[in-house]
Amino acid sequence: MTRKLGGGSLVIATHNAGKLKEISALLDPYGMKCISAGSLGLPEPAETGKTFTENALIKARAAAEASGLAALADDSGLSVDALDGRPGVYTADWAERQWFEGEPGRDWYMAMGKVEGLLQQKGPDTDRSAAFHCVLAIAWPDGEYAVYEGQCPGSLTWPPRGEMGFGYDPVFVPKGGEQTFAEIEPSAKHAISHRADAFAKLVADQFGR
Ligand code: IMP
Repeated sequence: MTRKLGGGSLVIATHNAGKLKEISALLDPYGMKCISAGSLGLPEPAETGKTFTENALIKARAAAEASGLAALADDSGLSVDALDGRPGVYTADWAERQWFEGEPGRDWYMAMGKVEGLLQQKGPDTDRSAAFHCVLAIAWPDGEYAVYEGQCPGSLTWPPRGEMGFGYDPVFVPKGGEQTFAEIEPSAKHAISHRADAFAKLVADQFGR
């Protein structure tokens, strides 16, 4: 049986304000007091893992060790079947501009274009199946941990469509749907997303709901 949080303080091991807000809202009903890693001045560890689970655990463990409190971290990304799971843990890195591509920063259109270029190189009949993944890891200061994995299967379309969402949303069509994640309302996306799936598993296990 997994160790339970049982209310109290929980460090959210992210420096992303949007993620902190979303995670705090999800855990508030269960009596969890969420504290951001940023507000405690915790450093961000390098994400050197080869899997989403390894990276989520690196972040959760670093925050738990540094704060002496239980900590929750997430890692997510897109894996494309015909590309052997790439970009996977490098999903955000594929959007990173190189020195010859202009101002430093992330360019999601470029990242979606890289994926599409690789798929097109494989030929017109290439399988366009892909899935978003999200791993949530809880780590306790004594080394114990729990991991919850969520998925959202779908396929990739081109050209990108829609103005909502972020990242690779404009090219991702969830299984059974016709619109991309960037064309549907955020509430509709949140009902079926990889993050929602991982959170449902965490809540069921940790809080018995
Ligand atoms: P990280 O989990 O913050 O390391 O980011 C992983 C990357 O995966 C993000 O920067 C996005 O590009 C991508 N990603 C994760 N979840 C989603 C999503 O729901 N829609 C679109 N892109 C996503």
